[in-house]
Amino acid sequence: MLDFAIVGGGPAGLTAGLYATRGGLKNVTMFEKGMPGGQITQSSEIENYPGQIEVVTGLDLMEKWPEQCQRFGLKHDFAGVTNISKKDEIFTITTESGDTHEAKSVLIATGSLPKPAGIKGEEEFFGKGVSTCATCDGFFYKDKDVAVIGGGDTAIEEAIFLANICKTVYVIHRRDEFRAAPHEVEKMNKLDNIIQVLNHTTEEILGDASGVTGVKVKSKVTGEEKTIDVLGTFIFVGRNVLNETLVQEDGNFLCDVNESGEVIVDLNMKTSVPGLFAAGDIRINAPKQVVCAAGDGATAGIQAIAYLQ
Ligand code: FAD
Ligand code: NAP
Repeated sequence: MLDFAIVGGGPAGLTAGLYATRGGLKNVTMFEKGMPGGQITQSSEIENYPGQIEVVTGLDLMEKWPEQCQRFGLKHDFAGVTNISKKDEIFTITTESGDTHEAKSVLIATGSLPKPAGIKGEEEFFGKGVSTCATCDGFFYKDKDVAVIGGGDTAIEEAIFLANICKTVYVIHRRDEFRAAPHEVEKMNKLDNIIQVLNHTTEEILGDASGVTGVKVKSKVTGEEKTIDVLGTFIFVGRNVLNETLVQEDGNFLCDVNESGEVIVDLNMKTSVPGLFAAGDIRINAPKQVVCAAGDGATAGIQAIAYLQ
């Protein structure tokens, strides 16, 4: 019987493991289907992790985290989890091989991933001008021109964020109306350096060896194509929340989730199910930053100890 099972070994899961084991829990296992470290290991340039003055890659940033947790007794099971369920106060974790593990408390920290837009050049220039994170990469385009693709709340909020840093932000949306909440759109309308390119599809992200140089857009009304010169392209067309392990036999989620599938938690990372915690990018209102995921993980680890007491 595990005291605490952690599903997902990114910044949230690893930090929860550190706090739970260092706080005295004996049987703590982290289930991670790949190498521990999480999605930040895909990043080539991080300059916003506190105390980390030199720009580092994600792999470098995360290298020592697993070793630090293991020192305090965190066990790592290289397994993908397929299901988390709860019966009579005990959780069952089922892995891809069909093995089951019982646990008194559980953290889900499997994260969420940005959806690709399926635009030519998107993959080729990812990390070389194409980004899915304005907080992470906006500063690299200080006083430069960028494009934002998408018309939902995320796209508009991030365009407003980028407008504080960048010279011009072109918001390219495939319809003539935004999906985002009207008050966000109103805020955007007041900003002179945001240019709205409505009713246009993005046909291609253009670039060369130096990275992105522009985007080719096509009017849905006239069919006319034009190139907008930008050095950065931010894509916000929705996210896939990795919550499938919470889906039960009856098709319902084990705990409450919002309309986007993000896990609803309180300030202690407690879900609607006692003993089940959620941390990092999978939870509601996550700022989707390493430092925030780590903070959530620390909270969840501390709260798991309190729950078991
Ligand atoms: P994740 O890091 O997504 O970790 C979740 C882990 O769960 C993964 O390792 C995954 O393999 C595992 N997992 C998923 N499903 C299962 C399963 N069923 N069973 C077992 N394991 C599973 N943030 C910053 O602060 N600064 C930056 O500069 C920055 N740049 C970024 C650049 C890129 C390219 C990307 C992709 C992200 C960037 N971020 C940045 C965001 C940051 O990476 C995330 O906010 C952070 O990693 C979230 O941590 P997490 O632990 O919640 O989830
Ligand atoms: P979203 O609401 O699903 O919006 C995605 C946007 O991307 C839509 O405008 C969509 O266009 C466009 N899009 C989708 N696929 C595309 C493609 N292949 N190419 C070009 N454009 C594409 O996603 P989101 O903005 O990430 O928001 C997700 C959820 O979180 C929503 O419920 C949102 O309200 C919520 N959210 C809330 C807040 C807040 O309340 N402050 C902030 C952020 C997010 P169409 O409109 O034509 O479909």
